[in-house]
Amino acid sequence: MALRHPKYITYFTPQSRSNERGQDSPYFVDAEMGGIVLEEDDIDHLQVHGSVEAYHTPGNQPDHPQNPPVKGILPYSRLSAETGEVGFANELGLFDFEISEDQGIDPLVSVDLQGELIYVVDYYSSGDDNIREQWPILDGEMSIVLNEQPSEYSTSQINAFRNTNMTREFFVSRVGRWDYLQAPLMAVVNVDLGEPFSGCNAIYGGSLAFFASDDECFNAVSTTVVSHEYGHHIQHGLGINHFAFAEGYSDSLAEMVFDTPIIGEHFF
Ligand SMILES: [Zn+2]
Repeated sequence: MALRHPKYITYFTPQSRSNERGQDSPYFVDAEMGGIVLEEDDIDHLQVHGSVEAYHTPGNQPDHPQNPPVKGILPYSRLSAETGEVGFANELGLFDFEISEDQGIDPLVSVDLQGELIYVVDYYSSGDDNIREQWPILDGEMSIVLNEQPSEYSTSQINAFRNTNMTREFFVSRVGRWDYLQAPLMAVVNVDLGEPFSGCNAIYGGSLAFFASDDECFNAVSTTVVSHEYGHHIQHGLGINHFAFAEGYSDSLAEMVFDTPIIGEHFF
């Protein structure tokens, strides 16, 4: 059998062959047969990599004036480029993904808490104030820090995201993969139902909900409160519906994840 060696000629594309983003891409034509043998992607690609940290509440007490936010690793945040590519930070808050560079636009990446497994929604603004920060893409290592000007309503979002992911990770590391926990779970924060409903609460009802601070207590997204509610999510998946056992299990889970005998420390 004879091998054919097509002679490739490069043509640059007419407008009709621009790609979906309006950029021309060169293609190669078989000089003998006339067919296109290779169409090249001529878009510049940029490797985007770095780390995500965030100001979050340290220790097991809630966010209050004597326990201000500190900077630390933020795992699993979502990064999206204006050109459409999406990446996720890993468990160490590190990310590495490729984007196509748009000519003439300074590339930005948006970082938010809409993770693949956990996503956070601000109740008070119906999502309008969900954390979503834009950072210029640098050629080299990027150091992204979220929530540099912390408020109760932004720190609570970071805390809910961190504490829920930490609890999920703890559980999965000991029990193994469970498809139920692969489905995205919503954590609603800064819930305020107004009078006569008191704050000082957290609820599980298919998603997690945490109340904003009020006269009697601090914002509810402290470590053990989040883990306790996540315990109810686990029970929901197992079909367990026994009040006393459920509360005891949720407390035990929270105590193990954060290595403390106190649930809701300094909440009130
Ligand atoms: Zn409970």
